[in-house]
Amino acid sequence: VLPEIDGDFYDVNHTLSPEHREIQLKVRAFMEKEVKPLVNDYWLHDEFPFQLIEKFRELNICGVTYDGYGCPNLPFLMEGILAMEMARVDASIATFFGVQSGLSMGSIYMCGSEAQKEKWLPAMQKFEKIGAFGLTEPEVGSGAAGGLTTTCKKVEGGWILNGQKKWIGNATFADVIIIWARDVDNDEVKGFIVEKDNPGFAVEKIKGKMALRIVQNGLITLSDCFITDENKLENANSFKDTAKVLQMTRAGVAWMAVGLSRGAYENALEYTRERKQFGKPIASFQMIQGHLVEMLSNLTAMQTMVFRLSEMQDEGILKDEHASLAKVFCTMRMRDIVSRSREVMGGNGILLEHNVARFVADAEAIYSYEGTKEINSLIVGRAITGFSAFV
Ligand code: FAD
Repeated sequence: VLPEIDGDFYDVNHTLSPEHREIQLKVRAFMEKEVKPLVNDYWLHDEFPFQLIEKFRELNICGVTYDGYGCPNLPFLMEGILAMEMARVDASIATFFGVQSGLSMGSIYMCGSEAQKEKWLPAMQKFEKIGAFGLTEPEVGSGAAGGLTTTCKKVEGGWILNGQKKWIGNATFADVIIIWARDVDNDEVKGFIVEKDNPGFAVEKIKGKMALRIVQNGLITLSDCFITDENKLENANSFKDTAKVLQMTRAGVAWMAVGLSRGAYENALEYTRERKQFGKPIASFQMIQGHLVEMLSNLTAMQTMVFRLSEMQDEGILKDEHASLAKVFCTMRMRDIVSRSREVMGGNGILLEHNVARFVADAEAIYSYEGTKEINSLIVGRAITGFSAFV
């Protein structure tokens, strides 16, 4: 009998309570039964499986860590574990969930007024309203902190928004889009809740992606888009507020890199135990084992790192540089793991049906979004040296 395939070699989940473990296993079963059978097809056709939304609702996990508004109020460790479980099967579905539960609900939870939270969060928690988060622009990605060109201008009863936002996940079907814009009167970045039927709001699907093809990314155009005062995020008044949301979600992306790596490793290990060459399973060859062990050692280092990261979040001591270091390290190691997973599968490694090719492609987007390796390195570099090397 061969040993069980399990990428959690050090049992980093050992501290989970039985109740939390049950939630983890519920999400694992959902991903295996409902998501896995259909993702390759939807990925190939660049479409989103809308039928999953109802099933997501039944899981009752959205808004993982938030207190109130129908949210589960779980520890950050659970948020990480759930991101890992999702990305272990499909990083696009994990991204959809991350945009809904983290970026868009998180902006409202962290920066909204009580009335805004009560209006939007319960509906978003149940997926009755889908959210998106618009920070990046066609000409401004890494330099968003100082360089946003989308503008907001205070007028009687509200604000006028102008500009474009690129790469916005869920944007093609989102009901609520958080838009970050620079105030022309004082240069500060402000956040807005933009509704999809708002006049002056238009979205176009970005086609031709080679990664996260299930995620529907949009190019948003705001043309004299009037937003009422009611929909100006009350406490989003500088880029520091945007950064608070990003710190939380970046930790989640590090966990997603762990999940994606774990899925690729486990699928590759299974394949090498079954695939025979020279009359023997290829897993019995020393050089294949060398690859597998190198993958597992990186994966184990990543898991222990993000476990501590979440503990720090739960302890309330997490800083930007902590989340950035984990994002840098885990996404770099992820690239190595998916590449080796593909390699040990030979030619079959490039076929979607073997569940590694999609991981190789998707890893490229996770490597770059929510701050590239360079930008997150500069955040850590600034923290450890005391010198900012951004410009
Ligand atoms: P650029 O900023 O143009 O960077 C290009 C290269 O230059 C990178 O390697 C970068 O690291 C490097 N670079 C830039 N500045 C420096 C510097 N000072 N020193 C050294 N190197 C530097 N954004 C949203 O707002 N909402 C979303 O929902 C969203 N979803 C996304 C989904 C996908 C699939 C993708 C690919 C992106 C998404 N993004 C989203 C945007 C994402 O966050 C940006 O792509 C990312 O921040 C990088 O910006 P950029 O692509 O403009 O690259």
